[in-house]
Amino acid sequence: MVYSYTQISQYLRCPRSYRYRYMDGWQEKETRAALAFGRCFETALGAYFREEDCGATLFREWGAYRDTAFDYKKGETWDRLLHQGIHLLERFAQDNRVRIPDPHQNLQVKKLSSRTGGSQFVSYLDAIGEVDGVRCFIDWKTTTSRYPEAPAGVLSLDPQLICYSWITGISEAALVVFVRKHAPEVQYLRTTISGEQRQEFCRLVETTINQIEAGHFNPHSGIRFPRNGCMSCAHLGLCLGNEQLVAANLIRKAGASDLDWLDELVD
Ligand code: SF4
Repeated sequence: MVYSYTQISQYLRCPRSYRYRYMDGWQEKETRAALAFGRCFETALGAYFREEDCGATLFREWGAYRDTAFDYKKGETWDRLLHQGIHLLERFAQDNRVRIPDPHQNLQVKKLSSRTGGSQFVSYLDAIGEVDGVRCFIDWKTTTSRYPEAPAGVLSLDPQLICYSWITGISEAALVVFVRKHAPEVQYLRTTISGEQRQEFCRLVETTINQIEAGHFNPHSGIRFPRNGCMSCAHLGLCLGNEQLVAANLIRKAGASDLDWLDELVD
């Protein structure tokens, strides 16, 4: 079995939701424009580092979704996202703070780790390069609001960055955040992950895989209504036995798939 950060974090959010998604094959329908746009934007970033025409790449990639019936947030349109993306690429190029040597090797970097019991853990890192001259692994994010920068050090608690640090052995991490707002902004956030955090994450992966393989899938949404995870859970219709909700939010693949870890590529 191949595991990924997305799978482990979904199990930790709610084991029942993990079972619905990865064992029973219930997948969320892809209706969010922002998610598809983020993927197109990251493809354009790859073109930028390969010294290709990144604006044309964004237009081509996002153009494939021009007539798709996405859910757009209030005030968003296909055109508006395209213009925001072009402005962000221009700002990023002007800033010139990120270097990716040998982009064919250091973009979408696949890392595999063999776990006890024969399973594997896979991660795809967005990039390994330099931010402001410091070698680090890099995660790109597109968002509509700035990421918080205080209190100092809070980024070092980000579980996905800890995961990437664990699987690469690289302690320096950077989050480059492309903020799609009226005046587009790029944030360059850096942090350091400690060896102790990497060891703790390794233990977390091992215990989580053990629980999954032992078939423990009790539901627990963590926080009480109305702030609990159920309110934003794609599988809510299944837990409530509400067929309308199921039909609106989910599609079902035939059983589990060995390719579920590919979710990692779109996270
Ligand atoms: S609706 Fe709540 S209990 Fe059910 S799978 Fe989702 S998070 Fe878990």
